[in-house]
Amino acid sequence: TLFSDLGLSDEVLRAIADMGYRHPTPIQEQAIPSVLAGRDVMGIAQTGTGKTAGFTLPMLDILAGSRARARMPRSLILEPTRELALQVAENFVQYGKYLKLNHALIIGGESMSDQKDLLMKGVDVLIATPGRLLDMFDRGSILLSDTRLLVIDEADRMLDMGFIPDVERIVSLLPKTRQTLFFSATMGPEIRRLGDAFLTNPKEIAV
Ligand code: AMP
Repeated sequence: TLFSDLGLSDEVLRAIADMGYRHPTPIQEQAIPSVLAGRDVMGIAQTGTGKTAGFTLPMLDILAGSRARARMPRSLILEPTRELALQVAENFVQYGKYLKLNHALIIGGESMSDQKDLLMKGVDVLIATPGRLLDMFDRGSILLSDTRLLVIDEADRMLDMGFIPDVERIVSLLPKTRQTLFFSATMGPEIRRLGDAFLTNPKEIAV
């Protein structure tokens, strides 16, 4: 399989070529066409499998072309740690270099007023850790009523770190009509329960 068989735009394909990627990984092969088709995804995949590009690349194409409104991010990627959030943001910048989309990071240790300014400009992709996101939501800096694309990454780590109540609250604040992509390195009963609660007729991928 070639990247060009998966339905991605020329802009995204060019960025991938610049990165030196030659072939999609198995999770990319399976996830990208489903995400582009608008489906929910339940992906069981470890770090190192290329899962980040598996959700970031199609998200870029879904979001390209329309504009975000102030305080209303169009998509949200939840990460368990600040380090993972920073990595995803870095990937997003590299893969999106030929598209005009912006992102903001809502993570601990960054100035809240800088983050607020970014949000006011309108954000296509918000990359956040759950606690900090809820903190800013409760201060009125973020509205989640236009966030129709949600990624929950590393769900099993969220579980281990005690973040699931925060994640559940965040999901309850998003529109019911949305696309949700859910990734976990492992699949236990609690992860299955969360997948059932958050996803509608998901494409299930295990690599
Ligand atoms: P991830 O599993 O998303 O953390 O990605 C692991 C690493 O693989 C990252 O450093 C990516 O830059 C790299 N990568 C992702 N997709 C590909 C690909 N199709 N070909 C080569 N490297 C890739």
